[in-house]
Amino acid sequence: MSVERLKKAIAEQQMKCPSCGKAIQEFDKYQEMASSVWDGAGDSNLETKGAKVTLICGNDGCAWKERTEFWQSFVD
Ligand SMILES: [Zn+2]
Repeated sequence: MSVERLKKAIAEQQMKCPSCGKAIQEFDKYQEMASSVWDGAGDSNLETKGAKVTLICGNDGCAWKERTEFWQSFVD
Protein backbone atom coordinates (compact mmCIF):
# COMPACT_ATOMS: atom_id res chain seq x y z
CA MET A 1 0.00 0.00 0.00
CA SER A 2 1.29 3.39 -0.93
CA VAL A 3 0.39 7.01 -0.64
CA GLU A 4 -0.97 6.82 -4.20
CA ARG A 5 -3.33 4.05 -3.11
CA LEU A 6 -4.44 6.18 -0.16
CA LYS A 7 -5.03 9.26 -2.32
CA LYS A 8 -7.01 7.18 -4.79
CA ALA A 9 -9.14 5.62 -2.05
CA ILE A 10 -10.00 9.05 -0.69
CA ALA A 11 -10.61 10.54 -4.14
CA GLU A 12 -12.97 7.69 -4.99
CA GLN A 13 -14.62 7.95 -1.56
CA GLN A 14 -13.79 4.36 -0.69
CA MET A 15 -12.86 5.18 2.88
CA LYS A 16 -15.72 5.58 5.30
CA CYS A 17 -15.68 7.49 8.57
CA PRO A 18 -16.62 5.08 11.40
CA SER A 19 -18.29 7.94 13.26
CA CYS A 20 -20.68 9.46 10.70
CA GLY A 21 -20.47 6.87 7.90
CA LYS A 22 -19.62 9.42 5.21
CA ALA A 23 -16.55 9.30 3.02
CA ILE A 24 -13.31 10.43 4.63
CA GLN A 25 -12.17 13.66 2.99
CA GLU A 26 -8.61 14.23 4.09
CA PHE A 27 -5.42 12.75 5.42
CA ASP A 28 -2.35 14.22 7.03
CA LYS A 29 1.20 13.28 8.06
CA TYR A 30 1.69 10.23 5.85
CA GLN A 31 4.76 8.40 7.08
CA GLU A 32 6.41 5.33 5.62
CA MET A 33 7.59 2.69 8.03
CA ALA A 34 9.95 -0.20 7.58
CA SER A 35 10.76 -2.88 10.06
CA SER A 36 12.40 -6.24 9.95
CA VAL A 37 10.71 -9.21 11.57
CA TRP A 38 12.80 -12.10 12.81
CA ASP A 39 10.64 -15.20 13.14
CA GLY A 40 13.34 -17.38 14.69
CA ALA A 41 13.15 -20.03 11.96
CA GLY A 42 16.48 -19.97 10.22
CA ASP A 43 16.90 -17.63 7.33
CA SER A 44 13.34 -16.37 7.16
CA ASN A 45 14.07 -12.75 7.76
CA LEU A 46 10.89 -11.08 6.63
CA GLU A 47 10.68 -7.44 5.81
CA THR A 48 7.39 -5.77 6.48
CA LYS A 49 6.54 -2.31 5.40
CA GLY A 50 3.66 -0.10 6.23
CA ALA A 51 2.66 3.47 6.53
CA LYS A 52 1.10 5.52 9.24
CA VAL A 53 -1.34 8.27 8.49
CA THR A 54 -3.77 10.59 10.23
CA LEU A 55 -7.21 10.16 8.67
CA ILE A 56 -9.54 13.13 8.93
CA CYS A 57 -13.27 12.84 8.28
CA GLY A 58 -13.66 16.46 7.19
CA ASN A 59 -17.44 16.31 6.78
CA ASP A 60 -19.64 19.00 8.32
CA GLY A 61 -20.48 18.33 11.95
CA CYS A 62 -17.99 15.49 12.36
CA ALA A 63 -14.69 15.94 14.16
CA TRP A 64 -13.48 12.36 13.77
CA LYS A 65 -9.84 11.76 13.04
CA GLU A 66 -7.48 8.94 13.80
CA ARG A 67 -3.76 8.25 13.64
CA THR A 68 -3.42 4.73 12.36
CA GLU A 69 -1.14 2.30 10.58
CA PHE A 70 -4.12 0.11 9.72
CA TRP A 71 -5.77 2.52 7.31
CA GLN A 72 -6.08 -0.28 4.75
CA SER A 73 -8.90 -1.62 6.89
CA PHE A 74 -10.96 1.47 6.04
CA VAL A 75 -10.76 0.66 2.34
CA ASP A 76 -13.46 -1.70 1.10
ZN1 LIG B 1 -17.23 11.55 10.11
